[in-house]
Amino acid sequence: MILVVGGAGYIGSHAVKCLLDHNQDVVVLDNLSTGHSEAVDKRAIFKKGDIKDANVLTNIFENYPISGVIHFAANCYVGESIMEPLKYYENNVAGTISLLKLMKMHQVTNLIFSSTCAVYGNPDVEKINESTPTVPINPYGHSKLMIEQIIKDFSIAYRLNYIILRYFNVAGADHLERIGEDHHPETHLIPNILFHLLGRSEHITVFGDNYDTVDGTCVRDYIHVTDLINAHILALESLQQGNVKNKIYNVGNEQGYSVKEVIQKCEEVTGKKATILYKEKRKGDPGKLISSSEKVSKELGWKPKYSLEEMIETAWKWFSRFPNGYKKI
Ligand code: UDP
Repeated sequence: MILVVGGAGYIGSHAVKCLLDHNQDVVVLDNLSTGHSEAVDKRAIFKKGDIKDANVLTNIFENYPISGVIHFAANCYVGESIMEPLKYYENNVAGTISLLKLMKMHQVTNLIFSSTCAVYGNPDVEKINESTPTVPINPYGHSKLMIEQIIKDFSIAYRLNYIILRYFNVAGADHLERIGEDHHPETHLIPNILFHLLGRSEHITVFGDNYDTVDGTCVRDYIHVTDLINAHILALESLQQGNVKNKIYNVGNEQGYSVKEVIQKCEEVTGKKATILYKEKRKGDPGKLISSSEKVSKELGWKPKYSLEEMIETAWKWFSRFPNGYKKI
């Protein structure tokens, strides 16, 4: 049985569905601070609680035969992390320490951890690989890098097998339109463009147009949530079978799109025209982040299937069908 912490969130809820579809039994632990109980597949056991609460974790480890943990529970907004760094160090770093302590106590030895390309900061390379220096430029990135180090040290000292996945920009929704993205507030680019194209805002704000990129707007590497979750399934299977372990992998599409290019793609997919408002750069935003995902392809056999267009199409279907997110389901 797999414990998914943060399994009611956007990425976690997609993972839960996929694990269940792969015949894994699942317990979800989520404090619902940003997640939605409606997003949790009914086939999973759901516990509301916080990873910092040792009693909640003890209860789960004592009552269910947990053989591995996938850890998604984190705060993940760059801007918020600059305004409220302690929240990030407490929830992300202290939360993970609490989880690791309890895993040790209950001899649970397999961990998949969600990390981020924010650990690289603002690297001056065309494609980022896992050897690119890690120099975070915001507390969110710092918090994730600290956790990576803690996991590595923990694994050397105790029995822990881990795979750390560094996500690039995740987008899209389940192809069966069962679940999707529902953040409050929504800060991510693709949902904000689609909200605007649905008529929910007067314009799409573009933060910064004088970056050193093709058209001056930030370049990111977007990856479909389903592709990202497939990397987790391969990582988990690898740990379960005793194959590849104690590794860090980038997970991205190896293709960069500027903010303007993403807006244009959204216009093409939806057939609607966007009104753009340019504003100052957002604090803590690097200019360009593009992944090399060669290592995960080679070692876990992972390959992304979906294009930016399909990310936008699936997200558009989800937002058009459930414009108020889970509230109206
Ligand atoms: N962005 C933007 N307008 C928005 C949201 C985001 O211009 O309403 C830009 C943001 O500055 C960044 C890129 O889009 O360069 C991706 O931002 P997002 O928040 O989606 O992901 P991040 O890369 O910060 O994790």
